Amino acid sequence: MSYLVDEKGYYGAFGGAYIPEMLYPNVEELRQNYLSIMESEEFQEEFRQLLRDYVGRPTPLFEAQRLSEKYGARIFLKREDLCHTGAHKVNNTVGQILMAQRLGKKKIIAETGAGQHGVATATVCALMGMECIVYMGEIDMERQRPNVERMKILGAQVVPATSGSKTLKDATNEAMRHWINNPSDTHYIIGSVVGPHPYPDMVARFQAVISEEIRWQLEKQTGSQAPDYVVACVGGGSNAAGAYYHYLEDPEVKLIAVEAGGLGVDSGKSAATTRLGRSGVLHGSKTLLMQTEDGQVTEPYSISAGLDYPGIGPMHAHLFTSGRGEFLDVTDEDAMKAGIELSRLEGIIPAIESAHAFAVLDRLSLERDDVVVINLSGRGDKDLETYIKWGKY
Ligand SMILES: *Cc1c(COP(=O)(O)O)cnc(C)c1O
Repeated sequence: MSYLVDEKGYYGAFGGAYIPEMLYPNVEELRQNYLSIMESEEFQEEFRQLLRDYVGRPTPLFEAQRLSEKYGARIFLKREDLCHTGAHKVNNTVGQILMAQRLGKKKIIAETGAGQHGVATATVCALMGMECIVYMGEIDMERQRPNVERMKILGAQVVPATSGSKTLKDATNEAMRHWINNPSDTHYIIGSVVGPHPYPDMVARFQAVISEEIRWQLEKQTGSQAPDYVVACVGGGSNAAGAYYHYLEDPEVKLIAVEAGGLGVDSGKSAATTRLGRSGVLHGSKTLLMQTEDGQVTEPYSISAGLDYPGIGPMHAHLFTSGRGEFLDVTDEDAMKAGIELSRLEGIIPAIESAHAFAVLDRLSLERDDVVVINLSGRGDKDLETYIKWGKY
């Protein structure tokens, strides 16, 4: 069984491109060109150079001694928190802005929830001198003021989405509407391994640099390229897809995906998609999503804005249903505790998204010589308010 996308854009039963006819030309243009562009030597050269000199790659693979001591295994942290702009998201936006240039596009649009993907997009647009419009739910704009201002400082236009619940899914709808109306000169930078084919595959390939680096870094430090576990949090699933990518076909490597349990999976305030979701179509792809009996998308909830999404990407839906990935969920409370623990044991304050991944360490029945890689997807600076409000430290 393969865990990569097939010729038709599917991962097992999930994926595809369920889009309105008006969007077809844009998506089809991308589908026909993305692989040949990405695989060209000239593209790879510029992409690699920007990852090195602008993003700051390779990011370190750090053996966390005190955390290892506590959990009784060798634990390594992949330091995506040290990327420019503070998280893994910029790996993808750098790749996609280069893609947009090759496709001859003049403008960039994006959606954002908490503003992290919006900031990463505004950043690369400034870098390349391209016009940037970011759609953001009106409620999210109030909740995430600093990121709105960051985007504006970087020169982006932030447009409030005022329909529906005025959050991420509404911003996504607005961005899609804009794209339909401006097909020829605009590229839509999607922020995770979601959306119609070829987005999930393209974004996974850009993020795959994470596991490409882990392999040689781990070999240097342990003598083997393959760990026993790779652990990552899953919102849409891009940091996890990047951390798993080069291990997908190696069944010896256990892939652990951590979803946001919110106030508890049965509380009605959760974003644990694989526990609560069913198959359906969300933002252009067939995947698992949280929905009511009659198929209306349910409002998700998590303390971490980056995990507050009602679906997961189709690759992850396939990893879950095939059993290749093990999916766990972590409550707000346990994630916050894990964030404080990492701060105290290693001097690293993680993004609350990433903190979810650390909260499953005591559930893995680890052995002394097990090698665990945790993808530390982002830094906690943006979450200071949330840590302060939570208060238990
Ligand atoms: C956005 C974000 C996530 C969630 O997105 P994925 O696509 O699931 O990776 C996780 N961690 C951080 C730090 C983020 O900013």
